[in-house]
Amino acid sequence: MTRRSPWMDQDLEDLRDLARTFCEKEIKPNIDSFIANKQVDRDLWNRAGELGLLCLSVPEEYGGGGGTFAHEAVLIEEQARVGDSSWGAPLHSGIVAHYLVAYGTEEQKQEWLPKMASGEVVAAVAMTEPGTGSDLQAIKSKAIRDGDDYVVNGAKTFITNGLQADMVLVAVKTNPEEKGSGISLVIVPTDAPGFRRGRVLNKIGMKGQDTCELFFDDVRVPAANLLGAKEGEGFVQLMLQLPQERLIVALGCVAAMEFAYEETISYVHTRTAFGRPVFGFQNTKFTMAEVATEARVARSFIDECIELHIKGELDIPTVAMAKYWCSERAMKVVDKCVQMHGGYGYMEEYPIARAFTDLRVQQIYAGTTEIMKEIISRSLPVPS
Ligand SMILES: Cc1cc2nc3c(=O)[nH]c(=O)nc-3n(C[C@H](O)[C@H](O)[C@H](O)COP(=O)(O)OP(=O)(O)OC[C@H]3O[C@@H](n4cnc5c(N)ncnc54)[C@H](O)[C@@H]3O)c2cc1C
Repeated sequence: MTRRSPWMDQDLEDLRDLARTFCEKEIKPNIDSFIANKQVDRDLWNRAGELGLLCLSVPEEYGGGGGTFAHEAVLIEEQARVGDSSWGAPLHSGIVAHYLVAYGTEEQKQEWLPKMASGEVVAAVAMTEPGTGSDLQAIKSKAIRDGDDYVVNGAKTFITNGLQADMVLVAVKTNPEEKGSGISLVIVPTDAPGFRRGRVLNKIGMKGQDTCELFFDDVRVPAANLLGAKEGEGFVQLMLQLPQERLIVALGCVAAMEFAYEETISYVHTRTAFGRPVFGFQNTKFTMAEVATEARVARSFIDECIELHIKGELDIPTVAMAKYWCSERAMKVVDKCVQMHGGYGYMEEYPIARAFTDLRVQQIYAGTTEIMKEIISRSLPVPS
């Protein structure tokens, strides 16, 4: 399972060493405490920032690492390698930062990106509402212009990094009469009066991740906090950035399959039954052969997607295929690995059990499997 991805080079190998040491030292020993606290230690962000592990693909002039998506990918893989799902860095660096890079004004970039890269600011993106998720055009939160300000009202739910966020990129209607063309993204600092966080939600997995409800009651932000040149661009901005978000999810799923393989192959060689290692049973060998094959096939596809994305050539239907297939396949692979662990596979302290519950959401967030299939099916050519 140690095949080198074709997009790796020496610079990325060096980064991998750094990221591996960080994940082994700062994350792996603390996963149980993250879960108990329903959040990572706040200073994990600062320590990562000091090492240059945040905003790896943000230009250096804004405090980032000046790398490509491959740099983000290395950290995502190393986080998965220690079995962690608590730290919301992929969303902070790989998603929110890129909305600012792509659409932010110079002032917005200067204000937020260096602090995001240092870990001083934790960022979140809030699209989903209690009444709507997949149907983004139906959001009800609004930001209405009042003089030099916007007044934001509404509620968001299931927001990753919600508890720790210092800044939230919020999807709102600046024109509530319109559907997609009424949507804008607005930057809301979480110290703005009227902003409130709900409880950290109790989830079946990703229990160390501070997923929250957020409330906005007459929150005033300067009109300059609108992301982009004019109102109504939010839906298009979201559609253009969602492919990278989906690629991040798909890559996390492939890395989780590889993690599950590694955990399970060592378990079945050490656990004995009927006087021999569990690996000695033909069923175990065949199951592990399936797991190794499925992880390898998924890796080939994701490596192709990453290479295309670095070249700017990854199209929306292909990334939808990756997100749908890798998330569904990972669930099946990890299910097999749980089975190979017997009763221990059902115990929360076993990483394979956590991988099982952590993975279920991958088919739901960043666009559900059904939405991915809808996107793919729309791209299928009609035979002449
Ligand atoms: C742990 C976690 C973290 C999250 N983090 C964030 C975050 O940081 N920011 C954020 O904004 N959101 C976040 N989400 C929300 C997530 O993106 C949504 O839950 C997801 O988009 C689905 O929306 P929904 O829950 O409203 O489901 P619904 O949209 O109500 O869907 C219910 C079911 O109907 C199906 N369905 C809906 N429309 C169609 C259609 N057209 N065709 C076929 N089937 C359809 C869906 O596929 C699903 O099976 C997070 C969710 C979770 C659980």
